[in-house]
Amino acid sequence: MVVSSSPDQSQEARLEHHRHPAGKRALVTGGGRGIGRVIARDLTRAGVHVTILGRTAQSLSDAVAAGDACAFAVADVTDATALEAAVRTAEAAGPIDILVNNAGHAETGPAKRLERGLFDRMIAVNLTAAFEAIRLVLPGMLARGRGRIITIASTAGLTGYPYVAAYCAAKHGVVGLTRALAKEVATSGVTINAVCPGFTETDLVAGSIETIVAKTGRTPDAALADLTRSMPIGRLIRPEEVAHAVLWLASDEAAAVTGLALPIAGGEIA
Ligand code: NDP
Repeated sequence: MVVSSSPDQSQEARLEHHRHPAGKRALVTGGGRGIGRVIARDLTRAGVHVTILGRTAQSLSDAVAAGDACAFAVADVTDATALEAAVRTAEAAGPIDILVNNAGHAETGPAKRLERGLFDRMIAVNLTAAFEAIRLVLPGMLARGRGRIITIASTAGLTGYPYVAAYCAAKHGVVGLTRALAKEVATSGVTINAVCPGFTETDLVAGSIETIVAKTGRTPDAALADLTRSMPIGRLIRPEEVAHAVLWLASDEAAAVTGLALPIAGGEIA
C-alpha cells in the first residue's frame, strides 16, 4: 500500500502503479473535457500515446497543449463516416490498443411527452456511436490478440431513473453490447468492459442542475442537494475516480476482467 502525505504524491504513485509498457496507443472519445479529459490525462501520464476525439477543435487542442493528450481528431461520433475517418487517422502511426468510448450526452423528458427525436439522439450518441467505434477497432485487436475496449456507460445502464428513459435505454444497451461481445471474444486477449459512474462533477451534471432550477424554481444548491441525496457516499463522484477504474481496466494486469459493468457510484448500486 502506498501512503502519501500530499494528493499530488498519491496521484503520481497511483499513475506509476498503472504505468503502461512504452508504445501503447489509446483513443478517447469526448476527451476534450469532462470525464474524458481526465481519462486522457491519466492515460498520458501513465505513458500511453493518447488521441482524443470530439466535436470542438478548441477544447481538444487546449487539452493537447496542456499535455493531457498527444493528438486530437475532430469528429461527431454520431456521424459514422467522420468517426471512421478520425479512427483511421488516429491509427495511421500505429494500431489502437485501448479504445475508451466516453463521448455521451443526457437529455431529459417526461413520460407523458416521449419524443422520438430525443430517443434517437440518445441512442445515436450513447449506443450506436460506441458500437461503430468498437466495430472499427475490434477486428484489428482480434488479429493482434490483444486490446482493451472500455465504454463509459452510467448507473443509468444498470437501473432506471425518472425523466431520462431514452438515456437509460441507450446506457442499458451499451452495457448489453459490452457483456455480449466480451463473452464472444473472451479467449482472444481482448477485454471489453463498461464503467458506470453515478452523478459526476462535470458540465453534464451542471446542465442537469440548470434544468432542475429552470423547471422547479429550486436554487442551484437545493438542486445539487437533491442529486447528492441519492448517493450513499454523500457527494458527487470525481472524474479522477472514474479515470482510475479505466486505467485499471486498460492495464495488462486486468487481462481476466471482461464483461464487467463496474459502478463507480458511491454505494448507489449496492
Ligand atoms: P461532458 O458533457 O462534460 O463531456 C461530454 C464529452 O463528450 C465532451 O468531451 C464532448 O465533446 C463529447 N461529445 C458529446 N457529444 C459528442 C458527439 N456527438 N461527438 C463527439 N463528441 C461528443 O460529459 P461527462 O464528462 O460528464 O460525460 C462523459 C461520459 O460519462 C458520457 O458518456 C456520460 O453519459 C457518462 N456519464 C456521466 C455522468 C455524469 O454525472 N457526469 C454519470 C454517468 C455517466 P464536444 O462537445 O467537444 O464534442
